[in-house]
Amino acid sequence: MSILVVGSVAFDSVETPHGKVDHVLGGAATYFALAASNFTSVRVIGVVGEDFTPANEKVLTDRGVDTAGIEHAPGLSFHWTGSYVQNLNEAKTLGTDLNVFAAFQPKIPAAYQDSEYLFLANIDPVLQAQVRSEMPKVKMVCGDTMNYWIADHKANLLKVLKELDVLLINDGEAKMLSGETNLLRAANKVMEMGPKILVVKHGEYGATAFFCDRSFIGASSVSLPFRAPALPLDEVVDPTGAGDSFAGGFYGYLASQPELTPAVFRSAMFYGGVMGSFAVEKFGTERLQTITREEIDARFQLFRELSHLA
Ligand code: AMP
Repeated sequence: MSILVVGSVAFDSVETPHGKVDHVLGGAATYFALAASNFTSVRVIGVVGEDFTPANEKVLTDRGVDTAGIEHAPGLSFHWTGSYVQNLNEAKTLGTDLNVFAAFQPKIPAAYQDSEYLFLANIDPVLQAQVRSEMPKVKMVCGDTMNYWIADHKANLLKVLKELDVLLINDGEAKMLSGETNLLRAANKVMEMGPKILVVKHGEYGATAFFCDRSFIGASSVSLPFRAPALPLDEVVDPTGAGDSFAGGFYGYLASQPELTPAVFRSAMFYGGVMGSFAVEKFGTERLQTITREEIDARFQLFRELSHLA
């Protein structure tokens, strides 16, 4: 099974209480692909500039990620500057230099047409809709977005939401999108906008999945929300990419399974938490570059024990 992801491949400059890094490899598609590649094959569509080196690309290809869909354009790569100094659970954006990302027009290589799973990472909803329409045969579409698109591009975002099987957003985004302050009410309103399943990430507190009655995984057997924990860590070095790594673990595991059952979906929520917890242990993508399947499975076991009632 293959996942096609479209999104940012970037350089990030980040400050956290643990220190500072400058222009390290990042981007939503990068974190997603590195996390998902532990479970299934991943193809990336994005754009980078002349500052993106073969060594940067090797970080992805060393983990088996197909980078043929990453376009190389004249100019500089997308550069995001953020700080977690005030609040480790929420990034404060200090700068967004779009650079080559400003004129990004996703082009899907012919060889990617047989991808079964599509992940629309956080980019302009117009581009998300375009990629979705060019991949009519996918089995499942999962997407992400952020406050910027909810605030200023809502009409375009609403069009994409109609196309999604699963939407993955955080607490604040769910409340902002729905105009509700109560999570359950917010979730129900968001699912009325299109997604059949809504996964709300709560940062260090885990994630909750909400299912609407059009849900495609054993509709009648899944109606109550399902909450998966996050692993309490004694040290969060850099939260950047936690959400995208969650998405990669979640979707990568789903795509690796022969059938989508409620039990598989619940495990996928745990694998999301596992990958998010690894991502934050080091700056940038460093931890995801060396992770092994044994480490992932051992941590999955920890997550099971954390929430087991016996
Ligand atoms: P998260 O998983 O939410 O922490 O996502 C962090 C990643 O999102 C960083 O590596 C950034 O490069 C990327 N990012 C930040 N702002 C944007 C944006 N406006 N569009 C696309 N990607 C972004």
